[in-house]
Amino acid sequence: MTTTRPNIVFIMADDHAANAISCYGSGLNATPHIDRLAHEGMRLDHCYVTNSICTPSRASILTGTYNHVNGVTTLATHLDNRLPNVARHLRASGYQTGMFGKWHLGEGKEHEPSGFDAWSVLPGQGDYFDPVMIDAEGPKVEPGYASDIITDKTIDFLEARDPDRPFFVMCHHKAPHRPFVPHPRYRDLYVEDLPVPDTYDDDYSNRASAAELAKMRIRRDMTYEDLGLIQPEGGDEIGEAQRSENGFVGRKVPDPEDVSGLVLIDKDTGENFTFATRRELDLFKYQRYIKRYLRTIAGIDDNVGRLLDYLDANGLSQDTIVIYTSDQGFFLGEHGWFDKRFMYEESLQMPFVIRYPRAIKAGAISKRIASNVDFAPTFLDYAGLPMPSYMQGVSLRPLLEDKAGEDWQEVAYHRYWMHKDYYHNAFAHYGVRDSRYKLIYWYNEALDQPGAFDGDEPPEWELFDCLEDPSEMFNLSNDPAYREVFLAMLTKLDAKMAEVGDVPEHDSAALRAGLEASSR
Ligand code: CA
Repeated sequence: MTTTRPNIVFIMADDHAANAISCYGSGLNATPHIDRLAHEGMRLDHCYVTNSICTPSRASILTGTYNHVNGVTTLATHLDNRLPNVARHLRASGYQTGMFGKWHLGEGKEHEPSGFDAWSVLPGQGDYFDPVMIDAEGPKVEPGYASDIITDKTIDFLEARDPDRPFFVMCHHKAPHRPFVPHPRYRDLYVEDLPVPDTYDDDYSNRASAAELAKMRIRRDMTYEDLGLIQPEGGDEIGEAQRSENGFVGRKVPDPEDVSGLVLIDKDTGENFTFATRRELDLFKYQRYIKRYLRTIAGIDDNVGRLLDYLDANGLSQDTIVIYTSDQGFFLGEHGWFDKRFMYEESLQMPFVIRYPRAIKAGAISKRIASNVDFAPTFLDYAGLPMPSYMQGVSLRPLLEDKAGEDWQEVAYHRYWMHKDYYHNAFAHYGVRDSRYKLIYWYNEALDQPGAFDGDEPPEWELFDCLEDPSEMFNLSNDPAYREVFLAMLTKLDAKMAEVGDVPEHDSAALRAGLEASSR
């Protein structure tokens, strides 16, 4: 038994769905290097994000707090770097700390990384090729491909370390975030078509109105750039403009009734594509999307392999905790969607695999509830540091070491604030997920959130039995047979909101009174 404090390598991708990691069993692709962490360590099956979008998730990971506490509720609310964070605690206790890759918590003196001895980050979303990266000296162009560069920087940090002190390094990939740009070396992967998800043609019946109204559909909301196609010159006739608060972004590939005149052109090869039917065009878009996405993942997986090889070659693997995760999940054609934001499972679930040979049994799988607010407390626990009182998560150490008792946390809490945002028209909501059920309240109000817009949709509830209905196709919130389950989940939601100090938009007392009156 060693008394040395463990090193921590935290590798996080941006928008990497569990269904695109082979150890999670979807069969879509092969990720042998990420899988290695699961086979030599543990895979979590119920790890959930508190707010399924980039910036807020990152704030929760660093601070161990929910977004109504850290103030980072949307993409436009950047982290105040005077707040304490896990890197600061680790650094103060003697850890060497590094942060490389996608930061997405703001730039400039008030938002740049704090608590890190060394850092180099992409501004905003950053670019895939020859990205500008910012460090303490300022911005600089880095030639190459983002996933390779970010890994190189992480390895350079490890090379330059003081071998007598432990290290904590965050290796944050930009990939596979939209527009899903793979390195050309992966161009020949996935020649054969991939399977189309069972729920691809979902008509969104039996669900809250948010599902139907979201602009996240592969068949009508992906841009030419998303699909690696040349965008012709022209106006609305070549595709609906996608605008953000900063202006014009790009045009969507059209979804016309009559596809006979449509010619799409591959950006790399110049190949022309024409279509006999609207369905053919629809499935063409899905295949373009999923293949680009998985090729981009292949670039991450190879780089995870490089990093693991470095740890092996330098005798670090036994004493280093290595984590691979993503800032949230992603839809890969389930319900006809790409993107995230929603509390539906594909978006809510964070893939999470962790290896630490000294404490975590190889090949273990946990079905217990975990959340990204738990990451910071976990790092501190393994570093032998107390959890500061401002943090709201719990250390996952009992779960990881198979010692979690009956009193382990029952639910994960999620809240998305950007009501009807420019791009995706996703609706604001909150809710809880326990090991079987999920309760969602669509309060459908902007509540003065940046990038959120009021509408007139009434509030709605959704209840899913994730065991019987893992695809979440049947909202049971009005089903009398599930009334007791609904009330039990409502109790859990109220308790969790009270525990974390978030303010409910729903009125539980009125709801309960109404349900009792109707059952009499
Ligand atoms: Ca993300």
